[in-house]
Amino acid sequence: MEEVEVLIIGAGIVGLAIAERFSKKYDCVIVAEKEPSFGRHTSSRNSEVMHSGIYYPQDSLKAKLCVKGNEMLYSFLKEHDIGHRKCGKFVIATKDEEIPILRELLENGTKNGVKGLEILSEEKVKELEPLFKTKGALWVPSTGIMDTHNVMKKLDFMAEENGAMISYNTEVVSIEKTDEGYIITFSDGFKVKSPIVINAAGLCADKVSEMVGIHAEKHNYTIHLCKGEYYKTTKYKNIEHLVYPVPDPTGISLGIHIRINLNGELSFGPNAYYVDELDYSMDETYHKEFHESVSEYLDIDFDEMWQDDSGIRPKLQKKGEGFRDFVIENESDKGFPNFINLIGIESPGLTCCLAIAEYVENLIDQEI
Ligand SMILES: Cc1cc2nc3c(=O)[nH]c(=O)nc-3n(C[C@H](O)[C@H](O)[C@H](O)COP(=O)(O)OP(=O)(O)OC[C@H]3O[C@@H](n4cnc5c(N)ncnc54)[C@H](O)[C@@H]3O)c2cc1C
Repeated sequence: MEEVEVLIIGAGIVGLAIAERFSKKYDCVIVAEKEPSFGRHTSSRNSEVMHSGIYYPQDSLKAKLCVKGNEMLYSFLKEHDIGHRKCGKFVIATKDEEIPILRELLENGTKNGVKGLEILSEEKVKELEPLFKTKGALWVPSTGIMDTHNVMKKLDFMAEENGAMISYNTEVVSIEKTDEGYIITFSDGFKVKSPIVINAAGLCADKVSEMVGIHAEKHNYTIHLCKGEYYKTTKYKNIEHLVYPVPDPTGISLGIHIRINLNGELSFGPNAYYVDELDYSMDETYHKEFHESVSEYLDIDFDEMWQDDSGIRPKLQKKGEGFRDFVIENESDKGFPNFINLIGIESPGLTCCLAIAEYVENLIDQEI
């Protein structure tokens, strides 16, 4: 049986960031990815925004890793000349009653270590973004957009250059704990042995964790699939800054905001609703919700927006539940030393990817 030092399950942006970091430290790192290439799921179906860290409770992993990850990602993008734009974002109030929410976000963000936050008057926002209907906004200068595909391509390339192997079309179907580590079986029957296993399987992370014997329901690790769709438009182009409404009070999403890409194209989304299956097709019934939400802050007709794409969030937060943090754990307390679970890596997972990799490195127990 092939023996490796580290086996990473999943080549989304998180698995790749971990592979790149670990490939500098370990000689034999393998990433097993069930799809034919990297980032076929959540990592390529999102808003491509580098978040600042204003939304998450103080001291949560989401807050700490977002603030750190934002800085790490900008350095990485600059160093490797990967497309990005630090455009900043406005969280806009469209009604006077929403102004206190901006103040709460400013206070929370400042406590989390986000720099440069400022409440701007209606006049100032209109001077900077004249198209938007607003009563004032929170200015968030550290938010930006990036070319996620090229980040993943670079991480994949760097990991392989350091000697890691990224094995595509390789689905992990079972994991068995032994005295010397773990035996991992792939769908073609091939087996490898590894003392360190990292579960970065995104939407399937709860199922992968169950393979080793950590039951999702018992440990509150069940993933709830929450879809987010986007609608695009050609009515507007080259908007300078990201514009978000105040977040949904249930914490399910940040609200239907504008998504801009590096070519200046514009779309709106994501909405948020729970689904039972991994199905990325769009549901036209939400077109009305999109039109109503966007019309709150921008003039647009119903037929000036049409279906774009969708992604699915791997949420730990079930319907009606409050905030849930990322689970990033060395499961040694449960009897699975150096089995690292990453569960519920929804937004701001892209932003956090490099900081998550550093965090995971510090969880590995070298004495085992
Ligand atoms: C609509 C939407 C908008 C978002 N917007 C943002 C944003 O603007 N900014 C931000 O920071 N974050 C955002 N996010 C969150 C971000 O996209 C995710 O946190 C991030 O992509 C998670 O990456 P990952 O590598 O953990 O998961 P994934 O990209 O899903 O990768 C997991 C991989 O594991 C593989 N896998 C699963 N099971 C197995 C198995 N048994 N064997 C082998 N391989 C397996 C899968 O094929 C997949 O490739 C958004 C998410 C959504 C859904």
